Amino acid sequence: MSEDRGGGDRTAHGGKGSQRGDAWSDRTGPDLPARGGDPARQERLRSINLELVFRRLVAAAEPVSRTELAAATGLTRPTITRIVDELITGRLVTETGTTPAGRAGRPRMGLQLSRSGPAGLGLDIRTDGLAACVVDLAGTVRHLAFAPLIDPEAPAVLDRLDRMATEAVEATAREGLTVVTATLAVPGPTDGGIVRTAPALGWRSVDAGALLEERIGHLGLVCAVDNEANLAARGERHAARRAASEAPGDFGGAESVEDFVYVSAGLDIGAGIILDGRPMRGSHGWGGELGHLTVDPDGKPCRCGARGCLQTYASIEAILGEEAVPAGVTPDAAVLARADAGDPETLAALEGAAHALGVALANALNLLDIDTVLLGGSYAVLSSWLLAGVEAEVNQRVLSAAWAPITVRPATLGPDAAAIGAAAMVVDWIGADPSAWLAAQR
Ligand SMILES: [Zn+2]
Repeated sequence: MSEDRGGGDRTAHGGKGSQRGDAWSDRTGPDLPARGGDPARQERLRSINLELVFRRLVAAAEPVSRTELAAATGLTRPTITRIVDELITGRLVTETGTTPAGRAGRPRMGLQLSRSGPAGLGLDIRTDGLAACVVDLAGTVRHLAFAPLIDPEAPAVLDRLDRMATEAVEATAREGLTVVTATLAVPGPTDGGIVRTAPALGWRSVDAGALLEERIGHLGLVCAVDNEANLAARGERHAARRAASEAPGDFGGAESVEDFVYVSAGLDIGAGIILDGRPMRGSHGWGGELGHLTVDPDGKPCRCGARGCLQTYASIEAILGEEAVPAGVTPDAAVLARADAGDPETLAALEGAAHALGVALANALNLLDIDTVLLGGSYAVLSSWLLAGVEAEVNQRVLSAAWAPITVRPATLGPDAAAIGAAAMVVDWIGADPSAWLAAQR
């Protein structure tokens, strides 16, 4: 079990969420003795301790006992008992029988995040359509639905997403879940709820946050908008942690998901960087624009205005070339079909894309000291044609690869990663202030 230092980042949770301040801070240490009878101070301590215990449960790869929680947080056993009771009453945590056998001492009652309490909704706009996903606090996908992307204009997209959101909330309410957050994944840099640019959709300075609140406001959810690669990277991290909890030891421990670059080709090439277990977003939240790293300064013009960007070699559009995609077939499926049929132009384009992607990634990896790359989105679909080329390129170009080889592997969630990561933002939202959630339940 390793501590989750994550959640320090802010997505643009508007509405109620924006009043809650920054997400989890790095508060650690034992509960301080409450001197005197200052009720405000005691309330603050209670809130800090609740947050500390909730964070430990989020970070746990498997159910933990009250005794383990006390040891891990430094809180006293009576304090842990009281906090756990509050978390169980507030539907944030459930008891799961006994903790796994094979440990010293008698078996203890395990605690884990609830599968029947609050849940998050993720909405994603991607190449093959729109997706709506609900994830419970334990990270299980409870609802996943798709719709075609017919009209990419923002109001039309949000209208369709409203219908999908309503269906998702109603369907999961029947299973006892309460959806509390809605996070929209968009293929471009965001600033608060504003999508600065999403070339693939033709969006420029679109206030998607306001549109989202306007459309789905009737559902009473806390709304946020974020970049799809950032959210997908978070989704992959959640998935890896779940894999670690279901098969402890098989995944190499939680450490293996603390640092990685997730790169996806969907409507555009984007990257989500997880460093020390938390997303690296940059000063404005606009980091990860891997698609506009320069591969050749004299290369083809890119729609961003520069020349020779990775986008011009390795986007699905670039790999597809001029030939039209048959109706009803997604662009990545069309590329895959051509490659599997041995089409020489497609194979050459894939080889060129793998080379360019490897060059761009090597630059990023040399700078960041990260040794794991996940290929997501359309790259996951095409990974059998790209992986070896990318891996060879980065291992040749990254200085440290000689003693710490770079691993390149397909992302586990495939094209659903961003929707799942967006839905899982509910854990961060509640974790930022679990006592506020509990107070609202009383
Ligand atoms: Zn560019």
